[in-house]
Amino acid sequence: MSGKITFSLIKPYAVKMGYIGPILAMIHEAGFRISAITSTKLSKEQAESFYTIHKSKPFFDDLVEFMSSGPIVAMILEKENAVEDFRELIGHTDPEKAENGTIRKKYAKSVQSNAVHGSDSAENAIIECDFFFSKKERY
Ligand code: ATP
Ligand code: MG
Repeated sequence: MSGKITFSLIKPYAVKMGYIGPILAMIHEAGFRISAITSTKLSKEQAESFYTIHKSKPFFDDLVEFMSSGPIVAMILEKENAVEDFRELIGHTDPEKAENGTIRKKYAKSVQSNAVHGSDSAENAIIECDFFFSKKERY
């Protein structure tokens, strides 16, 4: 399945604002199949581990605080060219630079609170899917 899956999560502020439904609709309309989905709340340790690649960045502590501040929705998405196509659908990290019609343009509040995460490579997609889901939880 390498290259055909990506991992996404809907971040706390977007969940709090009630954007789960509209974001899932955009994902569906873009042709992705949701093969696993769960609602959960990250501990600080889990948030640190998930974003460990950014550990040295000045925004790391705030990011961990934010990502563990409320429930999130985690999911595995299937499609040909899943990683690249999903990055296109979510748009730029900074919502002010995100293209019209992207998820972040519509639902992000700020660079930090930018509505959704999307894996940045096929390798990281596999690592991130395994972080959240066992084999039994994928259909
Ligand atoms: P994600 O990994 O969440 O899909 P991304 O790949 O577009 O986002 P990254 O560079 O991986 O962007 O940054 C991870 C997350 O860290 C961003 O989505 C955002 O929430 C936060 N972040 C990135 N840059 C900044 C910044 N300059 N200030 C505050 N938060 C930031
Ligand atoms: Mg990233």
